[in-house]
Parts: sequence; structure tokens; C-alpha cells
Amino acid sequence: MTTEKQPKILIIYTGGTIGMIENPETNALEPFDFDHLIDNVPKIKMLDYNIESFQFEKPIDSAEMNPTHWAEIAQVIEDRYEDVDGFVVLHGTDTMAYTASALSFMLSNLNKPVIITGSQLPIGEVRTDGEENLITALQIAAATEPDGRAVVREVAILFEHYLWRGNRCTKRSADNFNAFKSNNYPELARIGLNVNFNRESLWRSVTQNRPLKVEYNMDTNVMFLDLFPGISRNVVEHALSTPGVKGIVLKTFGAGNAPGHQWFIDAVKRTIERGVVIVNITQCPNGCVHPLLYAAGVNLSKAGCISGHDITSEAAITKLMYLFGLGLRPEEVKKYMKRPLCGEMGSN
Ligand code: ASP
Repeated sequence: MTTEKQPKILIIYTGGTIGMIENPETNALEPFDFDHLIDNVPKIKMLDYNIESFQFEKPIDSAEMNPTHWAEIAQVIEDRYEDVDGFVVLHGTDTMAYTASALSFMLSNLNKPVIITGSQLPIGEVRTDGEENLITALQIAAATEPDGRAVVREVAILFEHYLWRGNRCTKRSADNFNAFKSNNYPELARIGLNVNFNRESLWRSVTQNRPLKVEYNMDTNVMFLDLFPGISRNVVEHALSTPGVKGIVLKTFGAGNAPGHQWFIDAVKRTIERGVVIVNITQCPNGCVHPLLYAAGVNLSKAGCISGHDITSEAAITKLMYLFGLGLRPEEVKKYMKRPLCGEMGSN
């Protein structure tokens, strides 16, 4: 029986290991339906929440995830926004940080929890981490302040012992249960005997008092260019002149440094002059770009590269998709790439 006080949570099941079962013929894991998943977590009933669900018509391995799926998740959130207290999105771990980042931009003025989780072992396995992750995610989605407002008002990833800001974290392990980490931002909560929220880290903004606004259009004319010592002129020039590309995330060394060859700087400069936005981010998991610290970084800035400061790769590429998806001109995209929109980066 449901009462008015029961938290109402919508689970959006997209697929991923959490719901997978083994194909008896190939022994490979394949996504399975939501009923299978819930049947394996009888403890959910002990929460006494009003839980509803939505599942992708065909649950997917998150390697298949693309902006059409992000739009589908965002549409469900928009449709049910007034009606529920929070959302739990079940998702494969492989591209979870991309989805979390994308949704954080697409869901402007969000003031309810969107908690994304999954697992390293399928929920039917004896040692699964899926049961604990799902239950904790539901509890976080239902957590309220004394005034009745949600504690978490942003897109976050819950995995094992931590709750992270979605657009600040990265999958760091293909084996460990603690598979995610935010290298440049503290955890939003630590999961122990209790869920211990780190209140200073939670996203709070005046815009959260405005109605939810969903932007569905993500422009996929973006790419990464990852530098390495010895990268050839041929490779760089080809990559930078990829037809149709509007934005490039350039992954550089250390504090934002790149080779000083004239051909390299000229290629970057020509690309930017053609109206392509190039964002400089560091390959280091931790720390940020200091474009003026070394001559090797100054050259890039002089050529017109934007500093991505301490943004993750996942947030940088999805932010470009979002900004170009809004139809902004390169100069406007550059302006917004330099500043945080929803807690995805520190200030330059
Ligand atoms: N390949 C799976 C996926 O991302 C891995 C996982 O869920 O952990 O869908």
C-alpha cells in the first residue's frame, strides 16, 4: 500500500552488466529485462518506497550508448519530473561518465536527484555489487533535507562507497568494485554504515529555482585528439582537418603542453581560424591545465586554444556537443567552454 509520505522514485533501466545474464550458448553476458533484475533484489521491498520503472525497449550494453539514448533518458525525466521525488538510472559502467556528463548539461535547472548506478558483476551473481549499489542509489534518490527538499539536486554517480558528481568523474577500473573516481573534486557522499553527505560539495545554484529546461539536441561533430611523443605531422594535419568537425578536445601533456614544432602550431592555428573550437585538457588524471606555465603551453594559447582547466574528457566532449547543439557560434562556444555551467570544472 502506498501513502503520501512514501518517497516516489522512478528507475530508468537502460541495460549494462547489472541486468545482464549469461547466454548459455556463447557464455557472453547479454542485457536482460527489468523484471529479471528486480526479481533478484527482493530487499527493495524493505525500503517501503513507491517505485516505478521505465525500461529501454531493448536494454543495451553501454558501449552502444549515443545521444539518442541520452535524449530518451532526458525525455522520461522531463515527462515524470513533477510526479516523482527522484530518479535512479541503471546503466553500464563503460560509458556511464559520458551519460552523466551529457545529462548534467541537457537537464538545465535540475533540482531533483538523478542518481546513475550499475555494477561490475550481474545482479544474479552471488558476489554481485549490483544489489548494494541499487539499494543505496534508491536511498540517496529519496534523501531529503528537513525542509523536504532533495539533498542531491544534480546528476550523480553512485558506485560502491562513493557518490560522485556525474560530470566530474571517470571510470577508473575495469575490475574493482570502486570503479569510479572524481580526480579533481571531492565526493558528494561517502557510503559507510550511513550515507554521509559532504554538504559543501553538493551542487546548489540560484538557477535551480527555475523550471527544468531540457535541451535535447547534441551535436556530434566533435572529436578527441590525444597527443603522444612522436605524433606525426600527417596524423595531426589529417585529424585537425576532419570534415565537418566543429569542436576538438586536445589531450595534452602535463599542465597543457604540446610539441613546439612550427608545423604543429601552424596546423592548430589554421584549424582555429577556420572556426573550429579547440579545447586544451590534460592527459593527467589529476590536476589542471596551466596554459601559461611553459612555453609549450603558451604556444597553444597564442594559437587560440581554450583552456579546459580541470574538466574531465567526458565532460569536455559532451559540453562541446551540448553547446554546438544549442546552435551557438564558435566564439560563444569558447566563452562557455571557459566557465563552469553546472559544476563540471573549476574557474579558469
Ligand atoms: N559492458 C558493460 C556496459 O557498460 C560493462 C558494465 O556495465 O559494467 O554496459
